[in-house]
Amino acid sequence: MKQRIIFCVVIVAILCLYFDICNFSFVNGCYGPHITAEISTTKAYINENVTITGRICPPEQNATVRITFTRPDYTWIDRYVTADPETGEFTVTQKLDMIGYWNIFAIYGHLCDRLYVNVTDPTNPLAPLPMPTLPPYRPNMLLISATATLISAGALAVITGRRSKTRNVSSLRLFIQVGMIFLIFFGMFIDHRIIYVPAEQISPHEFLIVTNVFGVSIPEGLPVPFFGCYYPCGRTVTCALWELQTYLYPFWDAGRGWGVEYSSHGLLRLTVVISVIFILSLLFGRIFCGWICPFGLYMDLLSWFRKLLRVRYQSFSRHFNEKLHQLGYVILALTITLSFIFGSQAIFGAQLLPETEKGGFIYTYFSVPFCRVCPMKPLCVLLQSSVGIMRIEWLIENTTGELYHLGLYLTSINLFILSLVTVAAFLYRRVWCRMCPLGALIALFSRFPPFKNFSGVRLEKIEEKCVKCGICKRVCPMQVTCVYEKKGGDVTSSNCILCLRCIEMCPYEDTLKLKLFGKTVFKSRNWLG
Ligand code: SF4
Ligand code: SF4
Ligand code: SF4
Repeated sequence: MKQRIIFCVVIVAILCLYFDICNFSFVNGCYGPHITAEISTTKAYINENVTITGRICPPEQNATVRITFTRPDYTWIDRYVTADPETGEFTVTQKLDMIGYWNIFAIYGHLCDRLYVNVTDPTNPLAPLPMPTLPPYRPNMLLISATATLISAGALAVITGRRSKTRNVSSLRLFIQVGMIFLIFFGMFIDHRIIYVPAEQISPHEFLIVTNVFGVSIPEGLPVPFFGCYYPCGRTVTCALWELQTYLYPFWDAGRGWGVEYSSHGLLRLTVVISVIFILSLLFGRIFCGWICPFGLYMDLLSWFRKLLRVRYQSFSRHFNEKLHQLGYVILALTITLSFIFGSQAIFGAQLLPETEKGGFIYTYFSVPFCRVCPMKPLCVLLQSSVGIMRIEWLIENTTGELYHLGLYLTSINLFILSLVTVAAFLYRRVWCRMCPLGALIALFSRFPPFKNFSGVRLEKIEEKCVKCGICKRVCPMQVTCVYEKKGGDVTSSNCILCLRCIEMCPYEDTLKLKLFGKTVFKSRNWLG
């Protein structure tokens, strides 16, 4: 039965991919409607001219392109130009009359490409940068209601959990998970439009807390080992998987990225990302999965909802569960390999695949390959559209070119996988975490030799006190069996997300413990007595 279901799922996924690709029609050498633009320089002196050259595809009669030059104080100059009806090409020259960082948008309908230029004054290099005038605050009632609901859910969890001996930790965990949503997507909750954001970060994607790690500039912010998704507005940190992919391709070289400038080489940035993830994983293991990841919270909420409806959870066979876990490593390897192949031109100087050059088909549609299937991305952008922070039509239109930020957010594959994971997570606890490539990456750095020996966090069991009641096995949302089966000592396994449900539910005093850097921070208690 399960094999038939998996077969059907694979067929639907293939159909989604097929229809996704079929949406792109090659017209006059174009792979779909898009706009690309280039700027003559990214460093200019005040009152100097810059030239924007670009192209719309496919070319059209009387197509007007709007070029918006946004000054550092957020005022702007609009220029309109008619694109060549044969080639789709356009050119605009503009004098830049203010020092600071300018954002330039080449806009055609809902399609857009973003450029930038840093303007300085050679006669007065220390001149203060102009500050923008912010618009008056207009409360977003939908966002305020969503925030209030989240806060109430967190508060309710703590209040109800305190009364129950077997819910104490779970409710504290829920409270922390909810609190982390505010910290991870802080810019979204405080409404970035009313707060001064440096023009270099004018994109609503950014409200970053760290953009320089160990002296290496990381414009996308501190990489983290959980789904702090790149795509919604106002995030403070960035999903490590996104950075791992994009720093291989398309941003291996220093230079221009999607609206940002990379001053350091991709290899340096990758070294920082891998080092940060390695250190965090080694110190805290998959605690990020159990206690912080927003997508983990989503699945936990689905489980709570199922319990509310009094539907019993389902379990996979041990063999299938193990295969799912292995799938996480396969997805991780595939993601890295694909990014490597796509980036071969920049990395080795030999293009292994056609259409990976800037503006090519793969560059436009298949950069960041895992994010095209990741279920977190549609969840984030759908939620933020539902509270009025993103235009819903941007989510499904085929916007391409550099500023794909404004579109192609959701593909049919993304939506299909999110729907599938949602249904599955309702029945099977933490189903995505069992095959998540990011979870696999943390496990690689924390649960396999030689790293395992240095791991800062571990579950321990005292075999003599264990009566083999099997509660730990039943309550585990990841269907981990190690805690039950292993003979005492360190019982942490690579698929354990350190949610501590097993310790919370074990009714025998001191049998299970969580040790953080050798110190016991939590242990099982006799809650039956
Ligand atoms: S789509 Fe998924 S993998 Fe990509 S940045 Fe968002 S959470 Fe990370
Ligand atoms: S394993 Fe689950 S909790 Fe961990 S990063 Fe992946 S989705 Fe998030
Ligand atoms: S083994 Fe325990 S801590 Fe690990 S996932 Fe299962 S219940 Fe949570």
